[in-house]
Amino acid sequence: MKTRIITIDGPAGTGKSTVAKTVAEKLGYTFLDTGALYRTCALAVDKINGDIENEEECAKIVAGINIKLFGSKVFLDGIDVSKDIRTNRISTLSSKIAAHPSVRNLMLNIQRSFPKFSSIVAEGRDTGSVVFPDADVKIYLDASLEERAKRRHNEMILKGISVPIEQIINDVKERDDRDRTRESSPLVIPYNSTVVDTTHMNLDEVIETVLKEIKKKLPD
Ligand code: C5P
Repeated sequence: MKTRIITIDGPAGTGKSTVAKTVAEKLGYTFLDTGALYRTCALAVDKINGDIENEEECAKIVAGINIKLFGSKVFLDGIDVSKDIRTNRISTLSSKIAAHPSVRNLMLNIQRSFPKFSSIVAEGRDTGSVVFPDADVKIYLDASLEERAKRRHNEMILKGISVPIEQIINDVKERDDRDRTRESSPLVIPYNSTVVDTTHMNLDEVIETVLKEIKKKLPD
C-alpha cells in the first residue's frame, strides 16, 4: 500500500504542532513531531552535562540513545520525557544541537521509517525540503514575529509561567535566526509548498485552510 506524506513546516510559534496533530487525527494518519526528536537529543546531552556546541560529543551521545515517538508521547531509553523536553532551556538547546549535521543524519532514518507503516503528517523545519522532498502535500505556516511571541506568551501564562513578552520575542527571534542560517537543512520554504500566513487567523481557521489544501491536492 502506498502511504501518503503531508509535511507542515515553519518557524517557532506558528501552531504547527497543534495543526499537524489535529489534521492527522481528522485524516486517520500518524502524527510525526520531528522537533520532539531534536528536543530529546538535547535532553540526553544536557542530562549528562555534555557540551551542546561540540558536534562530535553530541553525535556520540545521540548514537547511543533510544528514542521512541508515539503521537505526542516521547520516550528516551524507555522513560517518558514528553514533559521534560518542553522547557525553555531545552527549546534553546534543541536548536543548537539541530545545527549539527551528524546529529541531523542520525534523525533522518528515524523520520523516514514512519511512512513505511502508515500515512503521516510530519511537522518541523525541514520535513518538506530535506526529509520528505517528494511529499504529497507540503504546507509552510508563517506568522509575524510579534504574533508568534504573543502566542507563546499566552501559552506560558496558561501554564502559570510568567516571562516578560520582550524576553520571549528575543528567544523566538534567536531560535529562528539559528534555524534559518545554519548550513545543514536550514528552515526554508520548501519547493512546491503552499504558504499560509496565520498572523490574523485563529487555530480553527488554520486547520480548515490546511484541510482544504490537502483535499485540493488529494481529492480521493
Ligand atoms: O518544533 P520545535 O520547537 O519542537 O523544535 C525544536 C527545535 O528543533 C527547533 O528550534 C529546531 O532547531 C529543531 N528542529 C529542526 N528540524 C526539524 C524540527 C525541529 O531543526 N525538522
